[in-house]
Amino acid sequence: MIPVLIVLNAGSSSLKFQVFDLQDGEEPRLVWKGLYEGLGGSAHFLVKDTNSALLDEMTWGSGDRFGHEEALIHLVSWLSQFKDDRKPVAIGHRVVHGGEAFSSPVLVDEAIIKKLETLVPLAPLHQPHNLEPIRIVRRRLPGMPQVACFDTAFHQTQSDIASLFALPREMRESGVRRYGFHGLSYDYIASVLKDYDPRLKEGRVIVAHLGNGASLCAFKDGVSIATTMGFSALDGLPMGTRCGAIDAGVVFFMLREMKLSPEAAERMLYTKSGLLGVSGLSNDMRVLRTNAGTNADAKRAIDLFVYRITREIGSLVAALGGLDGLVFTAGIGENDVATRAEVIAGLAWAGLTLDAAANSAGGPRISTGSGPTAWVIPTNEELVIARQTRSVLGAAQARLAS
Ligand code: ADP
Repeated sequence: MIPVLIVLNAGSSSLKFQVFDLQDGEEPRLVWKGLYEGLGGSAHFLVKDTNSALLDEMTWGSGDRFGHEEALIHLVSWLSQFKDDRKPVAIGHRVVHGGEAFSSPVLVDEAIIKKLETLVPLAPLHQPHNLEPIRIVRRRLPGMPQVACFDTAFHQTQSDIASLFALPREMRESGVRRYGFHGLSYDYIASVLKDYDPRLKEGRVIVAHLGNGASLCAFKDGVSIATTMGFSALDGLPMGTRCGAIDAGVVFFMLREMKLSPEAAERMLYTKSGLLGVSGLSNDMRVLRTNAGTNADAKRAIDLFVYRITREIGSLVAALGGLDGLVFTAGIGENDVATRAEVIAGLAWAGLTLDAAANSAGGPRISTGSGPTAWVIPTNEELVIARQTRSVLGAAQARLAS
């Protein structure tokens, strides 16, 4: 029997999963990955093997009331058909917010769920969806160990000053501080830097996680010392549909002068802004690149994205006291040759020089010369969840055995 881990990443209408084999002393090994989308409406399931070959798919009609609970039950039953000699031994969950209490992954029990629920106000658009499958699994598979892995935890190494807002002290005491996100992605990059260049592990490195959500993180000696996202995942860079950092005065203007409700203002900042808002066309970088030659607003959206990335990198170089390496990762960072070239062109002052041929080829190293190096490194957040789940499980078993 091969023990397997299930890794879940739940959104409002989607559930992404990956299944990893666990062998003693070896890195968890991916066997299947898939997703349910359109949950609550017309749901669709698909699952692929490690060569991205489609293994199975299924669609449900909107009358089927197929939600997260039905998806989890379906997944367990699908696994029991395809399991070969495999047995799920634990489930690892992506949880966006660990607050101040959780600086590392944790084995979930009722008390932990209660604590995680208190963090919903800090991430109202994400945390409830992350917690739902945890509750469902406790109800439907009560003996199954579950581990919560946090997007915020990687940034707990930041100094008090780096995480502080210039607000009255009682605000800090209520948990209003910079937390930072995309920590599972940064954790993965930190774990593989040495395989690309051993000097980066101890160096001053900026990682640009540029996906639908986007942020930058400054690493010193492989740990986070500063990041662009703050109290919420709205801060920092402009993103697919999120505005990134804006003057807080804009929010008062929206509420007081434009008479938007807090919910409408929040919706605008999270879902109608960023690349989508500026272009009026799309949140998808591929669509914007295709149209930038003929559509001035698509070009403006890209130009603003690149300008903000370049400016924020300047700020993080100051926080680091210099720069040894720059890493691009996630959907845009891994695939959009032009964004990488434009960002590096804006960083000539920092000594970065683009290797255009290597950049077109996708890296891994995309810089030349003796200055800081630039890299393309694919991220793997699910593997980090699998690693963390196994390590928490191992520690729990060791505690039980002693
Ligand atoms: P998420 O944050 O949802 O995980 P991803 O990391 O998948 O997002 O990134 C999605 C972004 O990556 C989209 O803007 C998409 O256009 C962009 N992207 C994906 N593939 C390419 C590509 N080949 N060229 C340019 N952009 C790409």
